[in-house]
Amino acid sequence: VDVLDLTAALVAIDSQNPGTGEAAIAAHVVDVTRKLGFEPRVVEAAPGRPNVLVEIDAGPGPALALCGHLDTKPIGDAAAQWETDPLALTVEGDLAYGLGSSDMKGPVAAMILAADRWAREARQGRLVLALTADEEAGSVCGAEALVAAGEIRADAMVIAEPSGIVEPWEAVFLASRGIACFEVTITSKQGHSALSPHLPTSATVAAAKLVIALAEFIPSHPEGHGYVAHPTVNPAVRVEGGVFYGVHPGEAVVASEVRTVPGMDRDVLEQELRALVAGALPPDVDWSLRPEPGRLGWMAPSIAEPRHPVVTAALDACEQVLGRRPPLAAYPGGTDATAFTHGAGIPCIASLGPGWLTCAHGPNEHIGVADLRAAVDLYADLAQRFCAGPFPTGGLRT
Ligand SMILES: [Zn+2]
Repeated sequence: VDVLDLTAALVAIDSQNPGTGEAAIAAHVVDVTRKLGFEPRVVEAAPGRPNVLVEIDAGPGPALALCGHLDTKPIGDAAAQWETDPLALTVEGDLAYGLGSSDMKGPVAAMILAADRWAREARQGRLVLALTADEEAGSVCGAEALVAAGEIRADAMVIAEPSGIVEPWEAVFLASRGIACFEVTITSKQGHSALSPHLPTSATVAAAKLVIALAEFIPSHPEGHGYVAHPTVNPAVRVEGGVFYGVHPGEAVVASEVRTVPGMDRDVLEQELRALVAGALPPDVDWSLRPEPGRLGWMAPSIAEPRHPVVTAALDACEQVLGRRPPLAAYPGGTDATAFTHGAGIPCIASLGPGWLTCAHGPNEHIGVADLRAAVDLYADLAQRFCAGPFPTGGLRT
């Protein structure tokens, strides 16, 4: 099986999320892995939302999980901007275009073929392919469900999210950022706008002051990890308020998010936000701050120990296959590393994959054909090194 052909087959199967679900693509992956001689297992957390697990046992030794998701973001409003059919992998020179080519059907194809090579060469250890559903919409039917059911047992995991920001294979990303979303509701007094000098500050004007303060907010965060990015604040991802001309606004809502880094604490962040809101709003309005319920309210950041054997194996594999050792870094986005690190205690490399994050989730997503081929060699080499090594101890740093 050629990695480009397998990528093309996966791209051709619609698995937009929210959208069609992963039933069809999972069935294809089951078929492909069976033909390679594996015994795939389907774990369906909800109807039409299957995860596919493959375990290959080559005897006692460390167990490595290779993880990728089977869903894609929706084509969405970008359909007209695609220059090729998003559901048909189109090769032009060294680039292959298609929805999910980078994020992450190409990387998934490379992991499947690397597992095939590993299975033929390995003398010890265990390799797990964890091909998940629902990553692009919160992982509830995917990584979260697998963790809750205790389905993944491994000493370390490599997630094949695309590692290119500017250059392909830009870094070995050990940290995965978290997210904290919250809503501030501001209450003033609705009334006749002709009398505004006699009314409390308009709720929408107060909201504007809050948005400016949030834009300048730098949450406290540890500076200890040299390679970990800073938190970023996205103020006012949604603003609502006001009624009509002539009406002094009595209520406004400002929804914002903070992308967090390892070492940040939920309670500390919430205290800082409350102090910021109290300081930014005029004293004559009331306000309440509400973290979003569920995972949006707090999805924890995660990080792997830089001296963990999986990191050593990854750097050695990069040197062998790419001819260089990429720097260690923090991935800008959130990944399934959060679920597997905190839920299953598995140290994760949050992103080591061909392709570019910068073209994911948008039109004309593409992947380098040479990078895709290198990925097969890289994952096979990495798995070989890790599984042939000693059992790792510890490895989690939170
Ligand atoms: Zn992804």
